[in-house]
Amino acid sequence: MSQELKKYWKNYIGGNWVDGVNGDRISIENPATGLQIAEIARATQEDIDLAVTAARTCFNSRVLYNMRPTNRGALMFEIARHMTEMADEIALAECLDNGKTLTGGKNEALAAARYFTYYGGLADKLEGRMIPLGSDYLDYTIPSPFGVSAQIVPWNFPLQIAARSVACALATANTVVLKSPELSPLSTYFIAEACHRAGVPAGAVNIVSGYGHDCGASLVSHPDIDHIVFTGSLKTGQSILHAAAERVLPCIMELGGKSAGIVFPDANIDQAINSTASGIFTHAGQVCSAQSRLIVPASLRDQIVEKLAQKAAGLTIGAGIDGHDITPVISGQQAEKIDAMCKEAIQDGAEAVTGGGRIEEMNGHFIKPTIFSNVTPSMTIAQEEVFGPVLSVLTYDDPEEAIAIANGTDYGLCAGLYTKDLSTAHWAADRLVAGQIFVNEWFAGGIETPFGGTKRSGYGREKGQEALLNYVQTKNVGIRITDGGGGRPGG
Ligand code: NAD
Repeated sequence: MSQELKKYWKNYIGGNWVDGVNGDRISIENPATGLQIAEIARATQEDIDLAVTAARTCFNSRVLYNMRPTNRGALMFEIARHMTEMADEIALAECLDNGKTLTGGKNEALAAARYFTYYGGLADKLEGRMIPLGSDYLDYTIPSPFGVSAQIVPWNFPLQIAARSVACALATANTVVLKSPELSPLSTYFIAEACHRAGVPAGAVNIVSGYGHDCGASLVSHPDIDHIVFTGSLKTGQSILHAAAERVLPCIMELGGKSAGIVFPDANIDQAINSTASGIFTHAGQVCSAQSRLIVPASLRDQIVEKLAQKAAGLTIGAGIDGHDITPVISGQQAEKIDAMCKEAIQDGAEAVTGGGRIEEMNGHFIKPTIFSNVTPSMTIAQEEVFGPVLSVLTYDDPEEAIAIANGTDYGLCAGLYTKDLSTAHWAADRLVAGQIFVNEWFAGGIETPFGGTKRSGYGREKGQEALLNYVQTKNVGIRITDGGGGRPGG
């Protein structure tokens, strides 16, 4: 791939770069300008059939499974090496089709490479166990791959999210058909390129892009897939779960969030402000784990809100490629949705201390960094995911109330708290209902730490060693090793 962004991107099926069967293309725009930057081949049901067949053929050949796991790991290190070599190209693609800064894009590329080294290093460490049944038997378990893993990723961090799921699948000898998000698909194609260059067997990893309602729906309802990994919105997750129920398919569901941070009275307020700003303004708030609510003692509200507003006022707004702090949201449709939610919040009685909607005078899809005060727990803005740079500040009088407000949404992806007191930290962490708890730093964690939701934020875990367990099923082998067996009546 050259440093110039390619104008046309093909799907990767069975080890080949191919056009869509029906020849259609999807136009990809730069969210900072609203202008087309590239086209991709549009995959529909026929392309999904080809991709699933390629993945099935590869899985049935046992080429990945028969490989010594340490060699599978080494192959994944090669994928990581190629991803790292292409990091600048990836950064440009991520910057232009997703709106990130070049630094943000490069971090994505390096994180994606790290997923392949992390899980490549674990490929030979996933062990079964031997179960003692007395001297007549040898009994052991095998962590077995499911088969063809169908994976669907969202547009906000397409590369990292694709990498974490593909890497787990390869480490455990599953094969993959991954559907990229139609709004920002380009960076995921570098996974295909890296697999190709590394010599990953044809059909082990297939990457296509298309619209959710046809390409995505065809993939998750395909009769020859064995496993679904979905990262995206609650609504789409629910529809995929219906399709999965038909065939009783195992799923990993990584859905949305409405995560809250609680400031305790003893907190380092500046630390809480800086962490909150990073928690809600990173990638213009288009982060599933964004800190979209801040719950503060009523007596500290004015001080905290004022400092947050000052922080927001210091942020620059513009295209990621120019290194701005607040970059565009992904599409005009998303900008309109966020703008409407801000207007509704104001109608409901929230006070826009700063920001409060779309920036009409800019060409791309930009939202002002927004801080709402006077928010009450039942308001829509306090209950529903905005997926934009919009923070709701709520107040509490006693700590139990703060916990109740934090837990009082349908979601349970992340939660956080700010305190200098270890007992308070442990007390609150124990009561907050979420898959991950951040103390004194939003986003504390990494590739090594398990990530996932509770309640309607989903189930299953990605990242960390725990993720691998979602990509295998336990097979138990019981062997009678002495004469005299022949079955146990009634057993
Ligand atoms: P989305 O649900 O609209 O789309 C996600 C993917 O699903 C896209 O590739 C889309 O094409 C596909 N899709 C849409 N309809 C489909 C259907 N009927 N069948 C199959 N596939 C279909 O979500 P989005 O707007 O792309 O992403 C934002 C959402 O993702 C937010 O809710 C965010 O919180 C969530 N998210 C969660 C995590 C996590 O790890 N928990 C990470 C990132 C984003």
